[in-house]
Amino acid sequence: MQSTNDIRRSFLDFFATADHRVVQSAPLVPYNDPTLMFVNAGMVPFKNVFTGLETAPSPRAASSQKCVRAGGKHNDLDNVGYTARHHTFFEMLGNFSFGDYFKEQAIHHAWTLLTKEWGLSPDKLTTTVYHTDDEAFELWRKIAGLPEDRIIRIATSDNFWSMGDTGPCGPCSEIFYDHGDHIPGGPPGSPDEDGDRFIEIWNLVFMQFEQSADGSRTSLPKPSIDTGMGLERIAAVMQGVHDNYDTDTFRALIEASESLTGVKASGEHQASHRVIADHLRSTSFLLADGVLPSNEGRGYVLRRIMRRAMRHAHLLGAKEPLMHRLVPELVSEMGQAYPELQRGQALIEEVLEREETQFRRTLDKGLRLLDDATAGMDAGSELDGETVFKLYDTYGFPYDLTEDALRARSIGVDRAGFDAAMARQKAAARAAWKGSGDAASDEVWFDIAEREGSTEFTGYTATSGEGRV
Ligand code: ATP
Ligand code: MG
Ligand code: MG
Ligand code: MG
Repeated sequence: MQSTNDIRRSFLDFFATADHRVVQSAPLVPYNDPTLMFVNAGMVPFKNVFTGLETAPSPRAASSQKCVRAGGKHNDLDNVGYTARHHTFFEMLGNFSFGDYFKEQAIHHAWTLLTKEWGLSPDKLTTTVYHTDDEAFELWRKIAGLPEDRIIRIATSDNFWSMGDTGPCGPCSEIFYDHGDHIPGGPPGSPDEDGDRFIEIWNLVFMQFEQSADGSRTSLPKPSIDTGMGLERIAAVMQGVHDNYDTDTFRALIEASESLTGVKASGEHQASHRVIADHLRSTSFLLADGVLPSNEGRGYVLRRIMRRAMRHAHLLGAKEPLMHRLVPELVSEMGQAYPELQRGQALIEEVLEREETQFRRTLDKGLRLLDDATAGMDAGSELDGETVFKLYDTYGFPYDLTEDALRARSIGVDRAGFDAAMARQKAAARAAWKGSGDAASDEVWFDIAEREGSTEFTGYTATSGEGRV
């Protein structure tokens, strides 16, 4: 069996042999895009190359890029633990052509790697193309010999990528693996495509046009390629398991969490162990890249992820902080590929332990309040916004933690009521603030605080638009 570490290596070696320069993963905090909270795709570090602002490191490149999708447009936080394929932190394997090769070679490389180098059965693979992209459709027939019913034309934005309102854009073609008819879910484009039977493994983006402010598109003289394949998803395929959480890396983390808590990852406890393993990765990698927990911006996303994991540790009956004790296992699984984990290990452990110790002081009381407030509520009902705000304000429960806590009972949360309570508190703080005597500058200060302190980050919407969501 090939380990996840072997598969990463094998991907990069394959593209190195095909004249791609292998580049290191960029840090999770984007250096080139202040509007983006975290790097969420392999192409992000190359944005300025694709727009022509920077010159390419070489005509072709390949990477395994650390990604976090836990906010904004690409928010997979709520899926984690509950689907077979979503993580908050994952690695995106990618090959890139900067005005060098285009569609034909991109499809050729992908098909060769999957079916020749890695030996996957072509019968298990289905592809999609943008509905007007006859060229890609023909190439899949010619290169892969796929029958027409396994080259599915999709008319939605799922198969059309754009960087933003202006800039490079183009159709994409995705590759799906069929895990078998014993798993619920339909092929891409069908009404039950969101099931976990056909899992999207690889997205090939054909950057072919330039979009202008007036919405018109012109053909790029030198079109480019951007691809992204989830390492954890391809590892599941190659290790013969359906679920990302059954791959070697996740098994190791989940076994460590089972042995420290003494609770098996089955039945009602399965999701908790999965959330803990997933969130251990995202929080450790964020800490290694210099993000620290705080009440705003990136630090608040980190804190929210940490606290969600800590509630699940509590659910498993952990009597003392758990997360920091799992870090050594993570470092042993991933520290070689990502030395920043080794370098940051002491800091990561210390911050996790301190944060968990602190949160545990209010967690119990908050959960009791939540139990009391929801006693007798039926599935389908909603917890009022005032209570959700009180949990946030007094007990440090991020909004989404409360939501997650009520999920098992199918009780929702009144988002508008929560926002209103939050706005009232801000208005009260504003009224209480006597100010420095300079009204204009106070206004500015509050505006900044409100904008920066916003827990709902919308940067992704403004800048990126890749893929299916
Ligand atoms: P999905 O539709 O399954 O949510 P996506 O279309 O949002 O995936 P892309 O934006 O196309 O994903 O990203 C490229 C690849 O990255 C995907 O084909 C998938 O293999 C992987 N990927 C995307 N999101 C995640 C995630 N949350 N966890 C693990 N892998 C992911
Ligand atoms: Mg996609
Ligand atoms: Mg998708
Ligand atoms: Mg998605």
